[in-house]
Amino acid sequence: MGHDHDHSHDDVPHYVLELEDSADSREDIPCPVCDSWRWVPLYEGVGLRGNKLKLVACSNCSHFFITPRPTLEVFERFYADDSYFHLCADFSEVSLEDKMAQFEDDAFWKKRFEHGQRLYENHLSDVLGPDDLVFDFGCGDGAWLGGLQQASGCAIDGEEISPIYAEVIRRKFGVDIFVGPAEGLIDDIVEKHRAKAKVVIVSGSLQHMLDPMRCLRAAREMLTQDGRLYICNWSIFDHFMASYGGAARRLVGEIVSWEHLHYFHELAFKYMVERAGFEILSYAPESIVRPMHMEIVAKKTTADAPAPDPEEVAAVIHRVRAFESATIADRLRIR
Ligand SMILES: [Zn+2]
Repeated sequence: MGHDHDHSHDDVPHYVLELEDSADSREDIPCPVCDSWRWVPLYEGVGLRGNKLKLVACSNCSHFFITPRPTLEVFERFYADDSYFHLCADFSEVSLEDKMAQFEDDAFWKKRFEHGQRLYENHLSDVLGPDDLVFDFGCGDGAWLGGLQQASGCAIDGEEISPIYAEVIRRKFGVDIFVGPAEGLIDDIVEKHRAKAKVVIVSGSLQHMLDPMRCLRAAREMLTQDGRLYICNWSIFDHFMASYGGAARRLVGEIVSWEHLHYFHELAFKYMVERAGFEILSYAPESIVRPMHMEIVAKKTTADAPAPDPEEVAAVIHRVRAFESATIADRLRIR
């Protein structure tokens, strides 16, 4: 998001500067999906927001992640002030005042509820009813929850990093959600909803999480035996690197940024969900519910998840490099 946003140096978020200044604000990590320390570098250099970083691919499961990564303390400081919300508001070229004003507008909500309605119609119409609860990690302004509530009469709850959105939800739906980075709240969330949620949503949020597996395992604990997990994310190949919706093809160095710690693709995305204790019911590289995202619907299982075949892992790593070469060749030809 916001890659074309014009920051003067004074506007560089303070957490970015801290990352440059202090070794204490970063830590080397094993693969957040499979815990392996074996990885190969994909990119090392200047990232999207102007700071240095390194993207690697896990040699065991093929997950792409940033290491060293910022500590939870740095993340909490970044999200505690409103710089992240401003980044998002700036991205859509509206002022913060205008963005807040739209929450008073019925036409805005009608449009926003469509995500929840599509989710209901495509995956949940025979699952979700008025006696059920839906929980949304990274629920934003609550629009998905609102759409699902409208479609099914279900109860709703969620977690959101931005206190501004949490206030919007309190006013609109009368629900006090969990406010802050999921990492610091997960134990309380599980405690409140253990085995009670019919649906858990993690839509476009896992890339921000220090530990996405912890979130998925928490979702598993929260779900009823017949519950459903719904997750969606950009695919690094199909939505970041490819020419998509008229956007130019991008190199890895033009994509990576500190607040996106993970870059997903089908092989590791599926493995991540299975390793967290789920059976995948459906996978779509292009979601109908949230266009320009890949999605998974899953249910709980106790079956073991074998790691991806080493040949498939090698093919994914080869694919990134081939993609980069092709993009560079394209650009040279244009000139
Ligand atoms: Zn791994």
